Amino acid sequence: MKPVYFDHAATTPVHPEVVSAMLSYFGENFGNASSLHFLGQEAARAVEEAREKVARLINCDPREIIFTGSGTEADNFALKGIAEKLKARGNHIITSSIEHHAVEVTCRYLEKKGFKVTYLPVDRYGLVDPDDLKREITEQTILISIMHANNEVGTIQPIKELAQIAHEKGVLFHTDAVQTVGSIPVDVRELGVDLLSLSAHKFYGPKGVGALFLRKGVAIEPLIHGGGQEKNLRAGTTNVPGIVGLGKAAELASKELSWRMEHSLSLRERLIKGLEEKLTDFILTGHREKRLPGNVSICVDYIEGESMLLLLSIEGFACSSGSACTSGSLEPSHVLLAMGIDPQLAQGSLRITLGRENTEEEIDRFLETLPKVVKRLREMSPFKPKK
Ligand code: PLP
Repeated sequence: MKPVYFDHAATTPVHPEVVSAMLSYFGENFGNASSLHFLGQEAARAVEEAREKVARLINCDPREIIFTGSGTEADNFALKGIAEKLKARGNHIITSSIEHHAVEVTCRYLEKKGFKVTYLPVDRYGLVDPDDLKREITEQTILISIMHANNEVGTIQPIKELAQIAHEKGVLFHTDAVQTVGSIPVDVRELGVDLLSLSAHKFYGPKGVGALFLRKGVAIEPLIHGGGQEKNLRAGTTNVPGIVGLGKAAELASKELSWRMEHSLSLRERLIKGLEEKLTDFILTGHREKRLPGNVSICVDYIEGESMLLLLSIEGFACSSGSACTSGSLEPSHVLLAMGIDPQLAQGSLRITLGRENTEEEIDRFLETLPKVVKRLREMSPFKPKK
């Protein structure tokens, strides 16, 4: 039977139109975008066209887009770049306790360098309380970084309200929008953010290319030093094919966004309804409505998530236990623990993330398979449901 890909939050297949847009920049148009000759000019033109497409998708000026080597790099750049720039003004950063490692581990690094970081708690749905943010801002606060939507449970934060609170106190606001750009509308002006990270491979673009939106007038220290690429803010020979791919992916996302949302949402609801009918002793994690249209994350009691994943994989379903980065470790996810989920229940986490090529038939097949997998694992489990 045809394998089923249900792990779009980890990465997405590159759209065929993205592949074909990129090809000539590996081939006849291989020039270095910094070269003055005609090949260089063609490469530079393609990069600027891609910048416009990305800017259009998130409603900013193309001059506010800095291309990076990944979403992780965009997050590192935002946090370290602002911390370094504003360290004479203050040493306090605020983030949430459910950030992706790209932000969380960078914050831990900054703590070692003398910055103080506050990790805001979240409620059982994974939401930050704006009043908590208000309370934690001090004279020393220079940056607030809160993710737009969580990669494990899909909860969407009230970014507009949080950014407003930051600005009332004169503090810059960054959001990691790696999971939202290309999946739901992301408008930097509407959100009111100063910096925003995105990554091509999460919305049918290539891996290893991302961007940082840096609002005009916000000063930042470069992360990577060298040549003068990206207006002296990100050195390194420009990844022309990758950036062209990101631009094409952004163009497709702009065109298809409403369809993508409706499609994922209807599959998501079919899956949740089916799970409620066919599976016992499980909870849906994350917020019921304020969640990404393609995210269904659950915790199944009395079993261990990794075994569930492996059996599902044998049956041809590619799912995840949460974040791809924590898979392989037996520690329950920091996100689920921060949401107050019992550590034993958190061991049984399963994330199904849907995308444009998934079908109702795949959902129905999954709904036949999962209960059988769970039954088999529960028969072997030392933890048994009480009769
Ligand atoms: N931030 C979030 C919320 C993510 O989900 C990811 C990827 O999983 C990243 C950052 C890192 O992006 P990249 O894979 O482009 O480094």
